[in-house]
Amino acid sequence: MSSPNTMASREVYPFSGGELVLYKSNKLQKLYIELTNRCNFSCRMCFRNNFSAEFGSMPDRVLDALLQQIGALPQLKAALIGGIGEPLLHPRLREVIKALKQHGTVVDVQTNGVLLDDELIDFLLQQEIDRIITSYECGAVGHVQATGLKDTISKVAERRRTHRGGNSRANHPRITLEWILTADTLDRLSSEAREMVELGVNEFILSNLLPMEESMASDSLIFSRHTGRQNRVAWKNQGDILEPFIDALRYRAKVQRPEFHLRTERRCSFVDNNAAVIRHDGEVAPCYRLLHESREYYQGRWRAVVPHTFGNIADSAVSEIWNSRDYLWFRHQVGNKLYPSCPDCELREGCDYIADTTADCYANSPSCADCLWDRQILICP
Ligand code: SF4
Ligand code: SF4
Ligand code: SF4
Repeated sequence: MSSPNTMASREVYPFSGGELVLYKSNKLQKLYIELTNRCNFSCRMCFRNNFSAEFGSMPDRVLDALLQQIGALPQLKAALIGGIGEPLLHPRLREVIKALKQHGTVVDVQTNGVLLDDELIDFLLQQEIDRIITSYECGAVGHVQATGLKDTISKVAERRRTHRGGNSRANHPRITLEWILTADTLDRLSSEAREMVELGVNEFILSNLLPMEESMASDSLIFSRHTGRQNRVAWKNQGDILEPFIDALRYRAKVQRPEFHLRTERRCSFVDNNAAVIRHDGEVAPCYRLLHESREYYQGRWRAVVPHTFGNIADSAVSEIWNSRDYLWFRHQVGNKLYPSCPDCELREGCDYIADTTADCYANSPSCADCLWDRQILICP
């Protein structure tokens, strides 16, 4: 019989007529921190449009618990402050950045850029943050301040040059542009990207539009075969769609590209990168998709997204939550792809499971079976 210590470091599950043992670990390596899901923008493409709950910001009680716990995460390598909302609105942003940097963590800050004034840019440079990730969409469903963002990027690049001089870290922090691709703006992608590189952008993260309303479906480049909506890039592959863009950049910037249709391979970058997401109220979720009560529209129907969390950092240490029985099992199941595939399932028209994310036909709960992030169709930094 196992000693109590051994039992405490593992969980045993019934599995295929036998037992499966999963070991607890301190491998939590990346935290996504949602300081707020409030925003000073109201973009049409934003996931916030379909959130059901009130928007909120991280209260002191939760933020204090976070600051206290950072030092107790030996393998924490990276943190992204952002998510769906504008983190620069949070009054204690600087404290969180300082604590993470003192811990030796790679820190990315995701922002729409409007509040990046000289003083804040200088603070971020002094703290040696690693990436400023900002989003840019020049079409009708995107950000309203496209021109303002270009000015902000120039300003960041200029101050970065001044701070770093000619040394080898002159491109640090990297300026990363997140870009939601739409049928409407595809033609302008190459010229806009060229201009952005001239201004100082170092990398692009391209992703697809998940329609927030049915009328936006024809703008999205994905799933035309399944929806029956023939848009102009239907079933072209990744290379065909993005070739002019890649050519225009001439390898002067790194590019992360999404898939445009289903491939056999599934890979959840949240689980594979040993990441967790801390919601503004302290709840710990496995990913952005399962963070908020919301709804998704694709393949011609709506699906309710039911948030799924494993504990709250104000009540338990995030390392304990990470090693809880349910979270261990969830990561095992997602990491090993032990879930069905709904988008190409022949039964989906009559299947009630896909009405929401709570369960699937393998008895998983929550269900990842209809996720577009694990298909790399939607990409997060
Ligand atoms: S700036 Fe970002 S978080 Fe804010 S509304 Fe737009 S997409 Fe949403
Ligand atoms: S839950 Fe199962 S049966 Fe239903 S659509 Fe998904 S894969 Fe098909
Ligand atoms: S597969 Fe999708 S729903 Fe499941 S954890 Fe990953 S991102 Fe979240």
